[in-house]
Amino acid sequence: MHASRELSAPSAPAPWQRTALGANLLALDGGLGVTIFEEMTSLAARTGAINLGQGFPDEDGPQEILDAARDAIAAGANQYAPGKGTPQLREAVAGHQERFYGLTPDPATEVIITTGATEAIAASLLAFTGPGDEVLTFEPFYDSYGAVIGLSGATHVTAPLLAPDFMPDMAALEAAFSERTRVVLLNNPHNPTGAVFPRDVLQKIVDLARRYGSLIVTDEVYEHLTFGVRHIPAASLPGAAERTLTISSAGKTFSVTGWKIGWLTGPEDLVAAVRTVKQFLTYSSGTPFQPAIAAGLALPDSFYEGVAGTLERKRDILSDGLRAAGFGVYAPQGTYFVNVDTAPLGITDSVDLARRLPELVGVAAIPVPVFCHPEGAERTRSLLRFAFCKKADVLEEAASRLATLSSRL
Ligand code: PMP
Ligand code: GLN
Repeated sequence: MHASRELSAPSAPAPWQRTALGANLLALDGGLGVTIFEEMTSLAARTGAINLGQGFPDEDGPQEILDAARDAIAAGANQYAPGKGTPQLREAVAGHQERFYGLTPDPATEVIITTGATEAIAASLLAFTGPGDEVLTFEPFYDSYGAVIGLSGATHVTAPLLAPDFMPDMAALEAAFSERTRVVLLNNPHNPTGAVFPRDVLQKIVDLARRYGSLIVTDEVYEHLTFGVRHIPAASLPGAAERTLTISSAGKTFSVTGWKIGWLTGPEDLVAAVRTVKQFLTYSSGTPFQPAIAAGLALPDSFYEGVAGTLERKRDILSDGLRAAGFGVYAPQGTYFVNVDTAPLGITDSVDLARRLPELVGVAAIPVPVFCHPEGAERTRSLLRFAFCKKADVLEEAASRLATLSSRL
């Protein structure tokens, strides 16, 4: 990874950089194709730091679903699953949409299972966008969005989310739409900011998408990780259903990020187009995990409430620690990420701090500018993202290490 720094040309990008895999790759790594998450996770491993960078839980999901996957392997569910997913899991996804949101996708034609939300995002953008199209996202944006928009050949247009609550600047959002806006790629609850968009904001987006004839692709992987607010799926709003593809994933809800089981729901013709692309990305997704996630989706409401409640306590432990360490803390309403402002500690460059933090205090985090294009990177220059999906004692230890930061700067 570091050899490439010497190789990378400072002015003209190398041909492979022109695949446009996103500003976030270029920001920290001199253009090498390693995501910020990989880079920070390996830095944490090298330095023995507590890894609050890449978002993954340090405890496995519910025993029932772990057992169900083992049982499925033992029972021989080890060859290709149907391309669109097993009927049982498609039915479970449809049942989940109905139970929580009153949405009733047809499991036969309006649901597909994907290899994580990542594949659903990629297949949707590759299905519907190409050169000459614009894809509109908020900024900061999750790293794969910039990369896949680049791969599709479309132009990435952004509208800023503004601190302290990271709601959109509505005028800027409206101005960012154009006749060429083919897809609005939403993410709610939002990574990295932790914002959860209220009904009026979502309705405004839906109305704009209708006005400009845009599709809405909405990444709702953190749908169950909200604190004191209810997640509202974009597809449930008036005028949205016929133009919206909704994406989610088992990774966050069931703490099995390594299983890479995601899903996508929406109108039959749109889902069919995504499925066509999915066939040539992975064809089908992990067979033995599909019955296990079907079992997870059938867990009672109390399970889902427990997930959010446990995480809210973890949010509070880490947020208190970050405040005590001298950071400005932006309380998230959802996801498992909390953003801080490093400026109160006299630090203006969070990319530089993120590189030094593991050595300085033994904690790793992700700088927010890597989720941005250059203008947004300037606006978020002093922001740093910490993941709190870790055991309480790990968060407490991280907090006590961070408390020593100001004396080490
Ligand atoms: N979207 C967002 C906003 C995410 O934060 C993540 C990952 N953590 C993903 C998509 C990817 O989900 P998956 O691991 O299911 O591919
Ligand atoms: N979604 C996780 C995060 O934001 C990382 C997933 C990945 O490494 N691609 O931290």
